[in-house]
Amino acid sequence: MGEVNKYKIATIGSHSALQILKGAKDEGFGTIVICTPKTAKVYQEFGVADQIINIDSYDNYETIEPELIKQNAIVIPHGSFVAYLGNDRCENLKAHYYGNKSVLRWEANRDLERQWLTKASLKLPKIFNSPKEIDCSVIVKFHGARGGKGYFIANSENDFNEKIKNYTKEEREDHVIQEYIIGVPIYIHYFYSPITNKVEIMGFDKRYESNVDSLGRISARDQIALKKVDPSYVIVGNIPIVLRESFLPQVLQMGEDVIKASKQVIPPHGLFGPFCLECILTPEKEFFVFEISARIVAGTNPYIEGSPYTALKYDKPMSTGRRIALDIKQAIETEQIEKVLQ
Ligand code: AMP
Ligand code: AMP
Repeated sequence: MGEVNKYKIATIGSHSALQILKGAKDEGFGTIVICTPKTAKVYQEFGVADQIINIDSYDNYETIEPELIKQNAIVIPHGSFVAYLGNDRCENLKAHYYGNKSVLRWEANRDLERQWLTKASLKLPKIFNSPKEIDCSVIVKFHGARGGKGYFIANSENDFNEKIKNYTKEEREDHVIQEYIIGVPIYIHYFYSPITNKVEIMGFDKRYESNVDSLGRISARDQIALKKVDPSYVIVGNIPIVLRESFLPQVLQMGEDVIKASKQVIPPHGLFGPFCLECILTPEKEFFVFEISARIVAGTNPYIEGSPYTALKYDKPMSTGRRIALDIKQAIETEQIEKVLQ
């Protein structure tokens, strides 16, 4: 049997680090959190990290890599991790990394992502390559630091041209015009283990976004009177959802199809570990997938003690963070660690 105590689990202090570190401790690993002076206090407070490595800025992340390598640490990427370091730097990291780094490119590039999800036979919102083609309500999204701020809805080419005027040259060049799907947002959390070869449903959430989740609290009359209120989608938290049970077969199938397609587009290993399909579910019971996150999403944070679905499957509280640690532990114990690390 391999030894769990030869490895440590490390991540950057933000996003889902609390559950990743707690889960790692529950599975018997030593834990390391990488923080800036501003964030360290939280990780001290909650006692999930055996060691805190402080850095002034994530721009200097590479300077602490030798320490991580010395301690045989396995780094777990999450949303903030990738947001702070960017894909290129993530791909060049030298310490052990849980996951398939090749997936980063497929997820970050809209065309590649679409190719992958189409191969998995998922329904995707239509993309308009030019405002001239707009023939329904669309959502216009910007990339980068804005993080959901400044998205807008347009209903025609003219409406689009009018609204895009308020944006910078860069933003005008880097946006996506997507069909606006009327339905409810559902974020599906999955886990695929290359050790068990199974796709698991871990849970569901919806996001709590400012200010869009508040606009409905005032009447349409008052919204019109306010004039300057545009919706923004700045994430402030996550709300758990339990899905109608008859949707589950479809949900499981979608997850399995994504994994199968990932092995074709990113051979040989494809995607493994936690991932999330970000969907709008319509009254016709169709799931439109507007994005995939190929790593742990913060929507799993409400389930540190496990979700209703993991409660059915495991006889202990199984967060997604802990599921990652369990995957690594089972890989170590069956001498297949190379299957989960890069
Ligand atoms: P932060 O470290 O909180 O500044 O987050 C960095 C990025 O990670 C954000 O821009 C979001 O894209 C993503 N993120 C952080 N927290 C959440 C959350 N609770 N739900 C969804 N995405 C999140
Ligand atoms: P994103 O930054 O892509 O995660 O999108 C932010 C929010 O916009 C999501 O939480 C959804 O509520 C909403 N959204 C994104 N794409 C669509 C779409 N195609 N149709 C309807 N709503 C969407």
